[in-house]
Amino acid sequence: MPDQAELLAAFQALGLQDKPVIAHASLKPFGFIEGGAETVLDAMLASFASVIMPTFTYKTEVIPDVGPPNNGITYGSGHDTNHLSEHFQPDMRADSLMGILPETLRNHPSATRTAHPILSFAGVNADFALFTQTLYEPLAPIGALAEQDGWVMLINVDHTVNTSIHYAEKLAGRKQFVRWALAAERVVECPNYPGDSTGFQAIESYLPLETRRVPVGEGFVQAVPLQRLFDVVQQLIKKDPLALLCERLDCERCNAVRVTER
Ligand SMILES: [Zn+2]
Repeated sequence: MPDQAELLAAFQALGLQDKPVIAHASLKPFGFIEGGAETVLDAMLASFASVIMPTFTYKTEVIPDVGPPNNGITYGSGHDTNHLSEHFQPDMRADSLMGILPETLRNHPSATRTAHPILSFAGVNADFALFTQTLYEPLAPIGALAEQDGWVMLINVDHTVNTSIHYAEKLAGRKQFVRWALAAERVVECPNYPGDSTGFQAIESYLPLETRRVPVGEGFVQAVPLQRLFDVVQQLIKKDPLALLCERLDCERCNAVRVTER
């Protein structure tokens, strides 16, 4: 069980003190931490120039009866669930799928949270990146981080949760999707919605030299430079348009990419 000093030492050992980072985390492998997620977040804010995390809110999504073809979605399948969807609010909790750390960041007194109804981000010292997001370019903050020599940090998680790979997929020209969400007053169309990330762990073997990894108790922290990650993803997709897709036969979004590339 790491304490605050061990966490701080691990993050600082990554040598990214003057870099902005986007982080994804599961804190469970650390076991009990005195002070909980706040302790982890404080150690991160003390170790990096800026920190952002996805604070996505999937419960705002609704599924229409009709829409554009080959969109990785079953139109009409929301009949029983659309009425459970909720209108996005700036203080809406981050989806619990993302773990407790993004919600802890969102609640930090110095945090900013963007207003995308599904794909919002929260950050501290990161307004330069957060303010680049638009409804049309939901993942723009990741590109802005990369321009400032940003890194992606994976805390006890692998690349299947690495949202930045989605940014690189779009750079590579891979098909994007349309989703719909309940904003404050109405249903909003959300273009450039990313595909499925289940197959992303395949990227790891292409980044052995770029990955910095530090063990922490029973867990680990690892970091990869965004610009290099983007380059590797784009090279892979250029070579094989089906790279990094998952193997599930019923995966609607990966299958939609396959149809496009056939
Ligand atoms: Zn898939």
